[in-house]
Amino acid sequence: MLLTYKFRIYPSREQQDKLLFILDNCRFTYNKLLEILNKQEKINQSEIQGTIPKLKEQYPELNGIYSKTLQYESYRLFSNLRALSRLKKNGKKTGSLRFKGRDWFKTFTYNQSGFVLEIKNKRYNKLYLSKIGLLQIRAHRKINGSIKQVQIKRECSGKWFALLCIHKTDEKPRKKTGKAVGLDLGTINFIYDSDGSHIEHPKFLNKSLEKLATVQRYLSRKKKGSSNRMKQKIKVARIHERIFNQRNDFLHKLSRYYADNYDLIAAEDLNIQNIISKSYNAKNIMDASWNHFLQMLKYKAESAGISFVKVNPRETTSKCSRCGATVKKALTIRIHKCSCGLEIDRDYNAALNILKLGQELACMPLEVANKQPMNQEATPFRVW
Ligand SMILES: [Zn+2]
Repeated sequence: MLLTYKFRIYPSREQQDKLLFILDNCRFTYNKLLEILNKQEKINQSEIQGTIPKLKEQYPELNGIYSKTLQYESYRLFSNLRALSRLKKNGKKTGSLRFKGRDWFKTFTYNQSGFVLEIKNKRYNKLYLSKIGLLQIRAHRKINGSIKQVQIKRECSGKWFALLCIHKTDEKPRKKTGKAVGLDLGTINFIYDSDGSHIEHPKFLNKSLEKLATVQRYLSRKKKGSSNRMKQKIKVARIHERIFNQRNDFLHKLSRYYADNYDLIAAEDLNIQNIISKSYNAKNIMDASWNHFLQMLKYKAESAGISFVKVNPRETTSKCSRCGATVKKALTIRIHKCSCGLEIDRDYNAALNILKLGQELACMPLEVANKQPMNQEATPFRVW
């Protein structure tokens, strides 16, 4: 299994110049190769690969870059080309490959060799990169497996990161718990599960979103091309980055909780559902969060050897999870109250329905299927 870890690196001023130099010359090489590709009547990959040594003769400064890092640009070009033709095949409108401008080129790559990671303790580790030297890296996670590739990335905020692609070998499936869970994702509660646990939308997101709106307003007032605008742009990028990190951390912990504690996880298929929300910006981030969360769940479930199913959310809100009767309710009605006597939170009711549908789909008879919900306030739990 391949995993990617993203660690922050802290280059010195001198190293930063070097990183920028490599980034810019990889972009230069990529564009040169694309230029040759565009001239070819029939695509000739070996001609393009053979161009790099010639470029080095013509531009001796390229010798300051690890040779495989430069070669990787030819791989990148062809991988972009393949992606483009796949899109074409699927009937998407596509143009041709574009030359990369500064803002569109953010990474360079050490594939298979040219790097060594030295781990001393939690805070101070070193990453050695050929032709660059020792970089300070914050490897905040333990690495079990061999590193196949190191990609150096410059984010819009100006921070540098190393993306380590790790080949994991000894993955053992965990012990079965015999439990199943249904998950309802919503606008009031981020999640409500069929065991009655729920989590509200994380508040830090709202705070960061407010801040984002403010700095974006400032940005729109700055003159185009001015250095103040550039500074403001970096501020905006930093907040985006923070929101992304906070959200990712929250989603990772939450999906880890479910993947560790249940053998069957059922969730709504969000592609079918229409989601309504007020603020455009907040909505985007929320949508992305749900999708991202489901992707993480799927991935974690697969690597833990457990089942993850997506069910059609139609009628999961209106149907009574105890007797099956239809109880229509407006969005503002938060309680599901049925003539059979069941009175529970509407999201809880939905989660129970999702669990049932999921169990039908997975054909996994579990004792939980017959468990009746209790008419009581479930306690919210926190996993982060
Ligand atoms: Zn009922």
